[in-house]
Amino acid sequence: MSTIDVSHVSLTYPNGYQALRDVSLRVAHGEIVGLLGASGSGKSTLLRAIAGLEPIDAGRIVVGGRNMDGVTPHRRNIGMVFQDGQLFPHRNVARNVAYGLEMAGVKRGEREARVSAMLDVVGLGGFEKREVGTLSGGQAQRVALARSLAPRPHVLLLDEPLSALDKELRERLAVDVRQILKGAQMTAVFVTHDPDEANTVADRVLRMTDGTLCGHTARA
Ligand code: ADP
Ligand code: MG
Repeated sequence: MSTIDVSHVSLTYPNGYQALRDVSLRVAHGEIVGLLGASGSGKSTLLRAIAGLEPIDAGRIVVGGRNMDGVTPHRRNIGMVFQDGQLFPHRNVARNVAYGLEMAGVKRGEREARVSAMLDVVGLGGFEKREVGTLSGGQAQRVALARSLAPRPHVLLLDEPLSALDKELRERLAVDVRQILKGAQMTAVFVTHDPDEANTVADRVLRMTDGTLCGHTARA
């Protein structure tokens, strides 16, 4: 089962700033947890800690039943989506989506089938050959989502994936993102600073304040 279990995690940056203070969070299989909080409250730090991009001082992170202590980021099988999708500009849409599959050594035929399937899932069927520079902001984020889902990650961490888009598009895409994640039965943490967006996307919303997570026990 693809669960996330963070218990009593603290994280101090090399400059001495403690960005996470005794954070505990459990995400059930197939559950989407929304993470709200002011800028600087530690939302990205928590995602980076789960992904293995920042070392923790204390506590335990278990993903899919496996303790992540000492496991490098690329072996964690965790997908990430960022605010600006960070697509590779020199790869077309299909090769962006294929990236994780290439890294995993998936053979070409299987790769191409998976890429097409993922583009269908995000509503961009037929976009394979498009250059990423010709995409709208919303399309680019859909491609980023397809790319993150393609290698079948255990869990997905989304760090304000819609924040760079205008409000109307954000509201539409928030509905789509929920549908896509639910369709894939994906276990996910979705960070946003917009409470409406959090409620649209997530099954349950938590709030981060100064490196502390509030309301992490009750399931709505
Ligand atoms: P959020 O994503 O909620 O806006 P972050 O997790 O990015 O917040 O940052 C939390 C706090 O940690 C902020 O005060 C930020 O300045 C600080 N911080 C982030 N990255 C570093 C770093 N590499 N070194 C020192 N402090 C950092
Ligand atoms: Mg952030």
